[in-house]
Amino acid sequence: MPYYGEEPQTVLNNLKSSKDGISSSDSLKRLNKYGENKLAGHKKKTAAKRFMEQIINPMIIVLIAAAVISAFMGEITDAAIILAVVVMNAVLGMVQESKSEKSLEALQEMTKSTSKVRRNGEIITMDSQNIVPGDVVIIEAGDAVPADMRVITSANLKTNESALTGESVPVSKMTEVLSCKNTPDVPLGDRRNMAYMGTTVVYGHGEGVVTATGMKTEIGKIAGAIEHAENMETPLQKKLDSLSKVLSICVLCICVFIFAFSLLMSHDFSQTAILNTFLLAISLAVAAIPEGLACVVTIVLSIGVSNMSKNNAIMRKLTAVETLGCTDVICTDKTGTLTQNKMTVTDAFGEKDILIKAMALCNDAHLSRKSGKVIGEPTECALVEYAFEKGTDKSTLQEQYPRVGEAPFDSTRKMMSTVHSENGNGFIQFTKGAPDEVIKKCVSVIKDGKIIPITEKIKTAIAEKNSGMAGNALRVLAAAYKPLSENPKDFSPENLERDLIFIGLTGMTDPVRPEAIKAVKECKNAGIKPVMITGDHKDTAAAIAKQLGIINSGSEIITGSDLNLLSDNDLEKNISKYGAYARVQPEHKVRIVKAWEHAGKITAMTGDGVNDAPAIKSADIGIGMGITGTDVTKNAADMVLADDNFSTIVYAVKEGRRIYDNIKKAVQFLLSSNLSEVAAIFVATMFGAVLFRPIHILWINLITDSFPAVALGVEKAENGIMHLPPRGKNESLFSGGMGFDILYQGLAIAFLTIFSYIAGTAINNVTGTTMAFLTLSMCEVFHSCNMRSQKGSIFTMHTHNKVLILTVILALIITTSIIYIPAFAKIFSLSKLSFYQYMLSLLMAFAIIPLVECVKAVKHLSCSKK
Ligand code: ATP
Repeated sequence: MPYYGEEPQTVLNNLKSSKDGISSSDSLKRLNKYGENKLAGHKKKTAAKRFMEQIINPMIIVLIAAAVISAFMGEITDAAIILAVVVMNAVLGMVQESKSEKSLEALQEMTKSTSKVRRNGEIITMDSQNIVPGDVVIIEAGDAVPADMRVITSANLKTNESALTGESVPVSKMTEVLSCKNTPDVPLGDRRNMAYMGTTVVYGHGEGVVTATGMKTEIGKIAGAIEHAENMETPLQKKLDSLSKVLSICVLCICVFIFAFSLLMSHDFSQTAILNTFLLAISLAVAAIPEGLACVVTIVLSIGVSNMSKNNAIMRKLTAVETLGCTDVICTDKTGTLTQNKMTVTDAFGEKDILIKAMALCNDAHLSRKSGKVIGEPTECALVEYAFEKGTDKSTLQEQYPRVGEAPFDSTRKMMSTVHSENGNGFIQFTKGAPDEVIKKCVSVIKDGKIIPITEKIKTAIAEKNSGMAGNALRVLAAAYKPLSENPKDFSPENLERDLIFIGLTGMTDPVRPEAIKAVKECKNAGIKPVMITGDHKDTAAAIAKQLGIINSGSEIITGSDLNLLSDNDLEKNISKYGAYARVQPEHKVRIVKAWEHAGKITAMTGDGVNDAPAIKSADIGIGMGITGTDVTKNAADMVLADDNFSTIVYAVKEGRRIYDNIKKAVQFLLSSNLSEVAAIFVATMFGAVLFRPIHILWINLITDSFPAVALGVEKAENGIMHLPPRGKNESLFSGGMGFDILYQGLAIAFLTIFSYIAGTAINNVTGTTMAFLTLSMCEVFHSCNMRSQKGSIFTMHTHNKVLILTVILALIITTSIIYIPAFAKIFSLSKLSFYQYMLSLLMAFAIIPLVECVKAVKHLSCSKK
């Protein structure tokens, strides 16, 4: 008989389990037997496939062709070196790719889901991967169902099974047996007493005994394997890919031109002339191709992402790193993100005894007798602690008033209700929630032990009390009750939450996070608008938003109900007016994001609750909460905050800006270096000189240039990075005069190289090439120091880049070794330089620093005059 055709107890017996779950030792045996509870991942690429992917790249193909033709023409050493460099580049690329894949996988691991499971009768939170058949799992709104299970308790449990059945309407789950007499095989969508892996809980809560895990689950059978359709390439990487393609075509054209031009000019069509001209064309090709570009960007991005994860900002999508730098608006929840989520009841109003009873019983937090600690959601814990302080122990109270049914809390109704039996004296219902909502459901009020009808005067008095507490930044909850003669059959909110008797109010503090005040200020300086969105009362929201500096006056705050009166058009027009939204529902968040989107702004939006997923998905950067967030929101997010802290969002924005800046610096450095090589070779060719061989250029591009480029990637944020307005999303990579900078810097390096060459040729051609080689390689390396700041002087910077200093020293040592160690000098066709020649070449190389400093100073002067 299938599990849905059996009683819950029979299923538990068949699986050798009980309502208290299985024991820890048994679970280990089962884990060995059934394996981990996960779907088979996508197949890993083989090393050969990864290698080929690196080789099939237009730039590398040009290089391979160059090597083959060189070999054909007898230049075996050159061919071998070009091939060696190509292989080395491919291996480096391969290692880098798998490293960045691994670091992304590690990040996914950090956000993997946990489940509440009963083991040995205790509730524990554990990694969902370790769930085994027979485990009793607790699921509640927002949870992803971690395995296939037979439902054994259900409090209005509803799941969304669209991933499995395509049906998007939530399905109510029950515990009753399904009749299998006529139709033994009940369709998946009709198995109302089963919950399946891959579906999510959208309402209520319940428990289930696990019947299948991992690939044995229904989704495992259908999917076979989950494909990570994650797009690994960021927009910047895509832009650079197309730039590389354009460059490759340009390179081919230049090569053909130079080849034909040189031959025609020399009128020499002998084999040696053709060979030499061809080698020249190859040097040019090699010079123009920025071989290290893609690799450097990947390295910079993955170092950045892993640093961010160490600081609690876990990126789930690489693309978000870039978008973060463009953020114009950060929409954030209040509770726990801007505030500490450490609630303490400090004020109460109404009939104290019954208020305490209601607040403690209509509450899902548990008072553990063993540890004396209260476990649960902070608002609820505060109420149980308050009751305890006043001499009421929730555990004892619960034994006197066992819960028999409930309408769980949801942020749309803003309240919850529980029904309790009163030791054989009938039943009683308690409701607690937002005062303005609860009061609407009340018909009377208990005052001095008497129940009197609720009048407008009483309502006004309650509202005033509520406003008073909220104005002091307190979170206010109301409680109400209703005696019941019998246990209701219908536990729907509509049936329970009416004709209530109002009891009173509690007010609790939730102090703002001190670091959030600083972060709000930083946002404002950086041209980013912080926006607070909360389900809380308008007065509480206004008091907190003012404390944080998010708003200055009450006109900047709007409530969800006022928002309902605004058309989308009006909201778009006025969107920049509002800094805080109170008493909103999750649907409002989507409207807010869309309105900002229409205003052309890049928006980040946080979310924790089950209904926040659509808003998180529609924002440019969806942010899930690591601690309080549900699986559903975390899975929809681009970034997860491990500490739920607003200041971590601001940190991530700063990192996004820094990483983009650094990639820009590395790109500018590499492109100006390539341009200098092309220009130097081109000019020399025009004068009939052979400046470099292909291996010289390859060496410089791949060895001496790549390390400084990576070192630029780890550069600290420049001073004032958070004093600039956000970058436009479609801003070109070459914006801010970067095209001009590449041009003049490339030409300057070419000029210095040619100067050294001319000085050296006074002795002979080899000395000329050697001096030019030393000048070019070191000039580029020194130039990387210029790139530490694209606009400002590097001598006024407050930070140091030790990695860059190290690469400069290393580059100097290896370049000098190539010249002075005979075996290397022979391979590179270089000759020893005298002390004077060596120093002159280095001086030429160093000249790039004062030169670029002068241009920066002139630009700065002309900017400040404007
Ligand atoms: P934020 O959106 O900033 O996290 P919030 O926690 O107030 O704020 P919700 O969780 O949607 O947002 O809660 C909305 C309102 O519902 C609260 O202001 C409070 O009045 C009420 N409320 C919150 N938690 C409970 C609860 N456990 N039981 C009853 N009512 C609650």
